[in-house]
Amino acid sequence: MSKQILILPGDGIGPEIMAEAVKVLQLANDKFDLGFELSFDQLGGAAYEQYGVPLADETLARARAADAILLGAVGGPQWDAIDPALRPERGLLKIRSQLGLFANLRPAILYPQLADASSLKPEVVAGLNILIVRELTGGIYFGSPRESRVLENGERMAFDTLPYSESEIRRIARVGFDMARVRGSKLCSVDKANVLASSQLWRAVVEEVARDYPDVELSHMYVDNAAMQLVRAPKQFDVMVTDNMFGDILSDEASMLTGSIGMLPSASLDANNKGMYEPCHGSAPDIAGQGIANPLATILSVSMMLRYSFSQGQAADAIEQAVSKVLDQGLRTGDIHSAGTTRVGTAAMGDAVVEALRSL
Ligand code: NAD
Repeated sequence: MSKQILILPGDGIGPEIMAEAVKVLQLANDKFDLGFELSFDQLGGAAYEQYGVPLADETLARARAADAILLGAVGGPQWDAIDPALRPERGLLKIRSQLGLFANLRPAILYPQLADASSLKPEVVAGLNILIVRELTGGIYFGSPRESRVLENGERMAFDTLPYSESEIRRIARVGFDMARVRGSKLCSVDKANVLASSQLWRAVVEEVARDYPDVELSHMYVDNAAMQLVRAPKQFDVMVTDNMFGDILSDEASMLTGSIGMLPSASLDANNKGMYEPCHGSAPDIAGQGIANPLATILSVSMMLRYSFSQGQAADAIEQAVSKVLDQGLRTGDIHSAGTTRVGTAAMGDAVVEALRSL
């Protein structure tokens, strides 16, 4: 039976980078006889324009029925002033929560060819390979009550809520330990247990889960220290597990260690490894429509999809090898360009990966 993949290009650079990822996916589909059927729909601002909401019910139904989802990115300044409940990012939060995609895997791998593109010294980042496991459907981005109001004295105030239940922490901790087990057997849990009640529960539950993983070395770190350690000595980390907001921030920080956020894929998985795959970056409105965005994070998201949702390790490896080969050829989009390399646009980069994959 064929496998259904729903493609949601989104906004800004989303459609540009997705066009390249789809070329690579279609070639992998033919070359490895994967039996995928692709269908397309809208999410975010594009969905707001077409359906009047950032995630239409019919799109959500298609996403539920699909075996995996490939997403570009959502958001843009043209939707900044609309009703907050209809903003593009709300569509993204809704699809993640409605599909129960609670585990966000964000690898930060430094390709040796890009050591010069990192903002840190090559010896600090050479060989870097970190996996950040971010809780994705709980915490402060979803907590209620959340409110913005005007006080009696006329001053504006606003607040958010940061809730975590024991079961939410337990299931993401398990993902962290499971990932550590198949990698370097080291897990660092990041929290703010010196200040936040939610983090104190986080730490206690992670300790409990650790009893089932005696082979994994567990450490805890406060998020402010983790932010510092990531730029001081990032290779001390193997797998990091953390909450929604801390993971959002730390994974963007980790991305710069690798040269560019344009290189970083991600997977968001449910309890059965059904997943939505997307680059870590946003819709980059500042460069949208110029044909210069880096499509490699989205192409590498295809590789994660093949590996995690379809157990097609050989095809996933081939895509990663093709990306590495293109970097060996010296091709670079603007975000990873440096002296002595060849600057190319989005489509040329995608075509080069397709050619490299074809010739493997
Ligand atoms: P961003 O990731 O879109 O851009 C940050 C910087 O990185 C920009 O200078 C951009 O040009 C650059 N960049 C990002 N991706 C790139 C790529 N593939 N190639 C080359 N350069 C790239 O973050 P932002 O500017 O904070 O947010 C822009 C919009 O994206 C906002 O509306 C935000 O809400 C949204 N956003 C969406 C997602 C998502 O869809 N998952 C994630 C983050 C931000």
